[in-house]
Amino acid sequence: MTDTTHDADVIIIGAGVLGCAIALEMSRRGIRTINVDKASAAGAGSTINSCAIIRFTYSTHVGVAMSWEGGQYWKNWADYIGAEDEKGLIEFHDVGQLNVFADEAERLDRVQQLWDEMDIPYEQLDADELAERFPFMDFGWYGPPTRPDDPAFWKEAEQQVRGALWSPDAGYISDPQLSCHNLQRGAEAEGGEFRFNTEVTAILQEAGRAAGVELADGSSLRAPVVINVAGPHSSIINKMAGVYDEMNIKTNALRHEVHHVPSPEGVDFMNAGTVGADDDIGFYFRPEVGNNVLLGSVDLECDGREYVDPDDYDTTIDRDQWHAQVLRAQRRMPELGMPHEARGIVDLYDQSDDWLPIYDRTALDGFYVAIGTSGNQYKNAGSVGQAMADLIDAVEAGHDHDAEPVQVTGRYTGLTIDLGAYSRNRDINADSSMSVHG
Ligand SMILES: Cc1cc2nc3c(=O)[nH]c(=O)nc-3n(C[C@H](O)[C@H](O)[C@H](O)COP(=O)(O)OP(=O)(O)OC[C@H]3O[C@@H](n4cnc5c(N)ncnc54)[C@H](O)[C@@H]3O)c2cc1C
Repeated sequence: MTDTTHDADVIIIGAGVLGCAIALEMSRRGIRTINVDKASAAGAGSTINSCAIIRFTYSTHVGVAMSWEGGQYWKNWADYIGAEDEKGLIEFHDVGQLNVFADEAERLDRVQQLWDEMDIPYEQLDADELAERFPFMDFGWYGPPTRPDDPAFWKEAEQQVRGALWSPDAGYISDPQLSCHNLQRGAEAEGGEFRFNTEVTAILQEAGRAAGVELADGSSLRAPVVINVAGPHSSIINKMAGVYDEMNIKTNALRHEVHHVPSPEGVDFMNAGTVGADDDIGFYFRPEVGNNVLLGSVDLECDGREYVDPDDYDTTIDRDQWHAQVLRAQRRMPELGMPHEARGIVDLYDQSDDWLPIYDRTALDGFYVAIGTSGNQYKNAGSVGQAMADLIDAVEAGHDHDAEPVQVTGRYTGLTIDLGAYSRNRDINADSSMSVHG
């Protein structure tokens, strides 16, 4: 692709975990990339507040394949990055993940079937085994989740949960921003460039295709390929490019809270704890530095969903939501306290209509999107890097991806990833959990 009339072969709008992973993959293929980010450092957008849970519990075939493939990058991080980082490399805490079966549990039955198909290791635990492994937890069946002002919230469990799936290869990254810095250093070692404090204000077009970006200071950067990886600002960038209306699946910035609570008294949650997902209670959790338990909601309908302007939203913790979330968690972890001070973070999901991402070209030739990550694509950064690079290679060489979707072969697992599943023009995917589970 190299052409000296351009500043780069590819301009990547955004230097979050996905923008950085795409940069590493493309620059390693000899493509000249420039990441442009209005923030002051890599990963300072929504990635900085990611819970960065690495799990393989997706509801679709492609979702499980993408996450299992993506998981291998975290395991092989130093080799994948292939460069020094003066800040050090991230650590993957592979503490495993517990998936509690709620009532009907159709979603987990499907996950189990997909894991069998793809030979992904797991164990099935019954309520007695759960009690033995996690003595500080209560495995009563309390769902479906409600709010504390509903009398049903306070009912006692009449029976135990059906059991759980234990995924030993799952875990989390405790410093998601550092992972972006690692990726940046990896890309720079291959010639990739990063420009921070640099805001894109328009997409340049020439002869019906993308030609670069215009910047807030009035200057421009020229390249024949532009990729929108702007996270919760994705729809704003799509509108700049004039492709928003042609896309069947839309994206919106959804406000999301995550709470931090000290571990139950006497429990070393950093070591004895686990990553967990629990549809019966309606939350997910993981160990958080300082022997805390991180609590995330699965955006229950009863809690309401708040779509916001990504440049103007309330970043303070909502005390009612904090209270509801900690009370819910206390059902599963009865010794968990309710500190007076509400602690945690507020950030944004770039939520798509069916909670699955869009990794695709657009109607504007040369303009691509890696968006709609819906609170669940941090873990997939490595596989998204490969997928976007394969897609752009094929389309720029003349392949009609809309008619015949590009198939990616995962470099670690050999699994086939059908990028047609991530099309902007798909119908709403009925297999999706329609939640952060993807
Ligand atoms: C609270 C929370 C918890 C999460 N937990 C998990 C989890 O446990 N596991 C998981 O897999 N995923 C999780 N996710 C999702 C995951 O973090 C995201 O999918 C991922 O970080 C998105 O990365 P990104 O690079 O696409 O976006 P971002 O990190 O948001 O990067 C986009 C960048 O674009 C820049 N930008 C925007 N507009 C412009 C412009 N006009 N000009 C220049 N730059 C611009 C921004 O400054 C930003 O840095 C979570 C997300 C949140 C918010």
